[in-house]
Amino acid sequence: MERTLSIIKPDGVERGLIGEVIKRFEDNGLKVIAMKMVKMSKEEAEGFYHVHRGKAFFESLTTFMSSGPTVVMVLEGDNAIQRARDLMGATNPQEAAEGTLRRQFGSNIESNTVHGSDGPDTATFEIDYFSNDLEISR
Ligand code: ATP
Ligand code: MG
Repeated sequence: MERTLSIIKPDGVERGLIGEVIKRFEDNGLKVIAMKMVKMSKEEAEGFYHVHRGKAFFESLTTFMSSGPTVVMVLEGDNAIQRARDLMGATNPQEAAEGTLRRQFGSNIESNTVHGSDGPDTATFEIDYFSNDLEISR
């Protein structure tokens, strides 16, 4: 069993896609073991995406991620990190495979509807960033 952090980004929440995204994960065997709605401050978004600090898109990305409510959830399942990313598709919705969440719902490389951790260390950092022990069902 593995855990990953997923976020329905402000564009997904704004467009009423919370149910669609969660259903896609659940239909594919990923179990939601923690979830909450979070409106990040700019500073919280910067901390979450600290690995991207210094990149050209950092300012715009963290402004976007703090622009409205998001849904933050922990998904659990076998190979959950890679499976969630497969369901999301490539970062750029135009390059994402047919049938993926980003291809179906993403607007552009920034407003791409959903986030997923990219590896075990990142997943641990990201889950800890948003969770305390009481929030994760066991
Ligand atoms: P995420 O981390 O959100 O799951 P990802 O791992 O596919 O996405 P990263 O390279 O980690 O992609 O980039 C993080 C986020 O930053 C992307 O999801 C996207 O919203 C934004 N982003 C990435 N590259 C660009 C870019 N070239 N221009 C604008 N925004 C970008
Ligand atoms: Mg990433």
